[in-house]
Amino acid sequence: MTQRTLVLVKPDGVQRGLTGQILARIEAKGYTLAQLELVTATREILERHYEEHQGKPFFEPLVEFMLSGPVVAAVVEGDRVIEGFRSLAGATEPTTAAPGTIRGDLGRDWGEKVQKNLVHGSDSPESAEREIGIWFS
Ligand code: UDP
Ligand code: MG
Repeated sequence: MTQRTLVLVKPDGVQRGLTGQILARIEAKGYTLAQLELVTATREILERHYEEHQGKPFFEPLVEFMLSGPVVAAVVEGDRVIEGFRSLAGATEPTTAAPGTIRGDLGRDWGEKVQKNLVHGSDSPESAEREIGIWFS
């Protein structure tokens, strides 16, 4: 079976009108959008989604940020898509993310307690299946 990953366009991406550009980069790379939805997250969804980060200093700012507006959730398919999308997304911090990546080209630091970095992508096949179950159940 082809690999799947969960991609989120975070509230900063949706609010800044970058959803189309971000999805276009995924499609231009050759991956397939298998499921796509505009969703308003809940605290419960986000606490499950980000469970590995509970207790870290950025956790509460991260949850507040992710509740600040709708997100676009997508299941994206293709061979090695987990690795491939994370490569397209770039490093976590937009300030130093490589130019050419989504975060490097479209993001910056806004002086806040959380890095607003436009996108989420699952980091392993186990995370992908777990996260797809949270957002598309
Ligand atoms: N984050 C942050 N500061 C940090 C680490 C993470 O604001 O020092 C935020 C950032 O929005 C990131 C999210 O928390 O995308 C999840 O962190 P993770 O380390 O999983 O980064 P990612 O996998 O998204 O690159
Ligand atoms: Mg992560």
